Amino acid sequence: MTTPGALYIVSTPIGNLEDITERALRVLKEVALIACEDTRHTRKLLTHYGINTPTVSYHEHNERERALELLGRLQQGASIAIVSDAGTPGINDPGFRVVRLAIENDVPVVPVPGPSALIAALVSSGLPTDEFFFGGFLPAKTNARRTRLGELRSLPATLIFYEAPHRIAATLKDAHEILGPRQAVVARELTKMHEEFARGTLPELSQRFASGERVRGEIVLMIDRAGTESEVIRDSAEHSVVEMVAAFENEGLDHRAALKKTARALGLTRAEAYRRLVAERNV
Ligand code: SAM
Repeated sequence: MTTPGALYIVSTPIGNLEDITERALRVLKEVALIACEDTRHTRKLLTHYGINTPTVSYHEHNERERALELLGRLQQGASIAIVSDAGTPGINDPGFRVVRLAIENDVPVVPVPGPSALIAALVSSGLPTDEFFFGGFLPAKTNARRTRLGELRSLPATLIFYEAPHRIAATLKDAHEILGPRQAVVARELTKMHEEFARGTLPELSQRFASGERVRGEIVLMIDRAGTESEVIRDSAEHSVVEMVAAFENEGLDHRAALKKTARALGLTRAEAYRRLVAERNV
């Protein structure tokens, strides 16, 4: 029986071409075939490094059939590298299907680690890194996005999302309304010429990105965990629910609307805000 080749999961730069490891370059040179999300895109990287290994496309529309073909080659003894357009294959990019198929068929799977936008963004965000939740892309439609954010509201972890530039303003607005005034960071164009970190609370960032100016580039959005923000609120005497409700009522809102607005401002559900209102009144 032929010894199968290995399937290498090779990370590539997310912007700066220098961010590739010596091992990644050696593996890309030595394998029989490179399976690429977009062969033309990867060809630029390969040409830059003088690598002539044959390439084949492996993307979301041919992932199923292509995974079987790649498995066939691996079982015949060929070693194959998988790369995506940027960063780590399998992270919001094709890769998972062929990895699973390889494992099911006793083909060795070998990671060749390197950049991934979510890790680069997290470690430079200034938000806690000890526990985090990566949610990929949030749903594009408002209702589904708000529902998803609601599901994640009480997670004790930094929340990380990939986001499209034309949706960042709407997502920040929804995140503020659903999660409250937490700290957040918008990391844009990491490792590229116009790398930028916008840091602030969700309401501040929401206002900043709602200015109408067109946002460009690639974005990672990070939002502080539930606990931290609640502590800030708990520790702050200004955030008495009774006082906030009264203040909104003074502005002309009825009691129900005032409670709703207070809940939103404090990042609480209406039920939580009501419980705190009752508790404060009973002190
Ligand atoms: N596999 C990639 C990785 O490991 O990061 C992610 C691929 S996903 C299809 C592309 C998304 O990743 C972009 O829309 C953006 O949200 C994020 N991203 C990729 N490169 C980035 C960069 N240089 N700066 C900020 N975000 C980036």
